[in-house]
Amino acid sequence: MTGMHLVQSRRRPITRGTTGLSEAVVDLSAVRDNVRSFRQRVPQQLMAVVKADAFGHGAVPVARAAVEAGASWLGVAHAAEALELRAAGLRVPILTWLYDAAELMLLGDVDVSVSTVAELQRVASTPSVHQVHLKLDTGLHRAGSTPDQWIELTRTAAHYEALGAVTVRGIWSHLSHGSARDAVQSRRQLEILRAGVRLARQAGLRPSVVHLVNSAGAITLDAPDTDLIRIGAGLYGIDELGIGLRPAMRLQSKLAQVRRIRAGEGVSYNHDFIASHDTTIALIPLGYADGIPRIGPHQTVPLAPPVRASVLCRGVRMPVIGRIAMDQFVVDADAVAVEPGDPVTIFGDGSAGEPSAQDWADWAGTIPHDIYCGIGHRVPRRYEEGRR
Ligand SMILES: *Cc1c(COP(=O)(O)O)cnc(C)c1O
Repeated sequence: MTGMHLVQSRRRPITRGTTGLSEAVVDLSAVRDNVRSFRQRVPQQLMAVVKADAFGHGAVPVARAAVEAGASWLGVAHAAEALELRAAGLRVPILTWLYDAAELMLLGDVDVSVSTVAELQRVASTPSVHQVHLKLDTGLHRAGSTPDQWIELTRTAAHYEALGAVTVRGIWSHLSHGSARDAVQSRRQLEILRAGVRLARQAGLRPSVVHLVNSAGAITLDAPDTDLIRIGAGLYGIDELGIGLRPAMRLQSKLAQVRRIRAGEGVSYNHDFIASHDTTIALIPLGYADGIPRIGPHQTVPLAPPVRASVLCRGVRMPVIGRIAMDQFVVDADAVAVEPGDPVTIFGDGSAGEPSAQDWADWAGTIPHDIYCGIGHRVPRRYEEGRR
């Protein structure tokens, strides 16, 4: 599997301002393999978290692939994301955790998270009988019921359930720490959740799914009395714990222009890069509007190689030089003869020597989640079934 064949495959119609030069290729077989990888390690059911358009990979195709590979739930942040999945015909249970009163009216067959009595009353007063997941804050201190309001929340929920106004299908929480080093915090959160489930049972609730862990937690925290793991990052091959996941997205483009500049000439805004010798430079038609992070000059001029951003073209890493602009950036193409139209890989799974999204995240001082989510609408997504 090389980027080069794919770039030459059939052109997509130009829609929504696509450049035609760049595309994000999403290998759905990687998503399936990643789902299977978690399913082999962990006995619980798997919820594929496809919020934020599946971290920029495309919610509907990723959700379908994940379900094919054995995910039995889908999770999203916003109501509109859940509705998109239902409209596309996905029938597995979906949980959403952010919605407003108007959206709630449309969410009849989507499970909703509830953190407060006021929210519960709003959900109970709609015409449809919603499936709710009561959320307990076990330490993240974001959404969720505070422990001191939990008894009231569970009792109120049991009351509404007895009236037939809601069904409490789940009880859940979210971990604050990801790595194995932080297992003590995760275990503490699990203990708090367990206590919360006991209180809910005392209130008369019989939730069928208790869930706590995300991708990292699924690997680092043994939580046999939970029923569901919520996997986001891991689906896309963000391999926080080195368990052999496969990155699903490859960002590729074509050189838009190739030219020579003379020693002493500067490149891009403010001339942060000045050529020390006559240099061939090449233009990549992607910029920060497309999600290329606007990394600082110290990461683009030839200083310490490990922090220098680069792309792969004709099998060679070409350093980014000068500022990344809104629509384009420039690379030093001196190492090998190149022509306009040559395929270039911005990031991929690294198997051909290209940088990874993790590398770009390191250069930009962020996380790969942010790199993937940032890939903009101008970049068309194309789906393929890769080979291993
Ligand atoms: C994003 C999110 C997840 C997925 O977490 P990953 O670390 O990406 O696996 C799970 N649960 C909730 C509540 C989330 O917001």
